[in-house]
Amino acid sequence: MADRIWEQTSCRTTDVEGVDRIWAQIDLDALHFNMESMHNSIDPNTQMVAVLKTNGYGHGAVLLMKELEKLPYVWGYAAATFEEARELRAHGAKKPIILLGYVFPYCYEELIKLEIRPACFREDMLAQLSEAAARQGNPVRIHIAVDTGMGRIGIRPDDEGLQFVDKAIHTPGVIVEGMFTHFAKADESDPAPTHAQIALYQDFADRIRKALGYEIPICHISNSAGIIEFPQANLNLVRAGITLYGLWPSSEVSRVKVPLRPVMTLYSRIVYIKECGPGVSVSYGGTYTTSADRTRIATIPVGYGDGYPRSLSGKGYVLICGKKAPILGRVCMDQMMVDVTHIPGAAEGSLCTLIGQDGDECITMEELGDLSGRFNYELACDINARVPRIPCGGSLG
Ligand SMILES: *Cc1c(COP(=O)(O)O)cnc(C)c1O
Repeated sequence: MADRIWEQTSCRTTDVEGVDRIWAQIDLDALHFNMESMHNSIDPNTQMVAVLKTNGYGHGAVLLMKELEKLPYVWGYAAATFEEARELRAHGAKKPIILLGYVFPYCYEELIKLEIRPACFREDMLAQLSEAAARQGNPVRIHIAVDTGMGRIGIRPDDEGLQFVDKAIHTPGVIVEGMFTHFAKADESDPAPTHAQIALYQDFADRIRKALGYEIPICHISNSAGIIEFPQANLNLVRAGITLYGLWPSSEVSRVKVPLRPVMTLYSRIVYIKECGPGVSVSYGGTYTTSADRTRIATIPVGYGDGYPRSLSGKGYVLICGKKAPILGRVCMDQMMVDVTHIPGAAEGSLCTLIGQDGDECITMEELGDLSGRFNYELACDINARVPRIPCGGSLG
């Protein structure tokens, strides 16, 4: 059955010259659709941060940034590492960039030069940033990370945390621009833990206001699940990650409140077809042996070297001519074999859909994640640098 989410995908890269072996089609119309969809469902005064870590969850961070740069309601971007942020700057990102994790001291000066905002939660970091700011002759803007339930980075919203904020506010060369926290369970059906996290954050911001007389200029809490399910957490900013890419944070969040369209489609082509009789073993270890009188085996030039999971060996499938072609035996590093006996139209050169829609059939990132024992986020991030990202739609089309 066709999944409705793919219905509106109109752009195609299947006839782009020189793109044959494997490519990820990046539908920029879908990106804009998802952004508009989120923007329409959050508070009109809340701006958005596009979370572009891990090469934009495998979708191509620079490609997406160039589209997002034009949207007035996109305040800026978030990355995980200094190098990711620097790459965005090198390709023309003018908007603010926040680093969401710990940032190591080697890059503090360059970070200040590039106006990248680190998450901050360690006292030694305040001192080191202050020194770097003095050397640079420019201040550094930080976003204080508060731990309200992740047990990850971040100060606790308690007396000690308040002392840290006080210290940060009074550290020369350091500007406390923002404060954020991160949901641990906003993608689960029970809203209680998320309400508790929101309350902890709000109470702490109140304490800062009352005890320190400081109004944090930019407050942000929500991730994708929060954007969909917790409108009360729309503060100055929300941080959109997985939803930007048209994927859902989990099966427990609503699929109707914020309509989304998948941005990535993953394609390849058949490079070889052979016809075999019974008793022919296929791929490493011979875990599959033909039994029928006649089996047509197609070789697809894609493997785990591209980030296509080896755990799909013997259980995944691809789409060819609108039909499912099961993977035979093990997925190799650069190739895999699929059964096309029941697909007479399959020929050398035929388009092969690894993720996406073909006729009435579709394979979503979620499904392929489930089949391969992965999380949908993880599968997207795993699609690696050997796979070209080919954009369509957006301001290009
Ligand atoms: C990764 C991340 C996000 C985005 O999460 P999604 O579930 O993809 O929306 C937001 N905030 C922080 C701090 C993150 O680390």
